[in-house]
Amino acid sequence: MTYYEDLTPYSYSETEEKYLNVGWLSPEHAYVQGDPSDNLIESLKGLARSPCNVFRGIHFCELCPSFDAAQEYVHRDGLFLGSGEIRIHSSRGVNYAAPVMIVHYIEVHQYLPPEEFVRAALEYSIT
Ligand SMILES: [Zn+2]
Repeated sequence: MTYYEDLTPYSYSETEEKYLNVGWLSPEHAYVQGDPSDNLIESLKGLARSPCNVFRGIHFCELCPSFDAAQEYVHRDGLFLGSGEIRIHSSRGVNYAAPVMIVHYIEVHQYLPPEEFVRAALEYSIT
């Protein structure tokens, strides 16, 4: 999967609205690790149930130790994480685009997304 640094302008597909990248991880780049709240994972899973941009083929996690593990993780709780994106619109007028795989990155690889994204995801799931 293509790597983008967190909070850089999203340019993966042509959209009218402006989005910021979050969670486009790659094994070649270090990322922030930490303990996310359970609420964050739950709300992202909720968003992952209706992904957009699912037409770009299947991606497997490149952070997993083996391809077998990555293949196993691509299905999670009835979700398919290997394709598609999550879009979040925050109340501050900032929009975020993350791969659906971000659920797996957070759960298994301790990825901690930027705080403003976490806040937007939590607030988005309430509304
Ligand atoms: Zn993985």
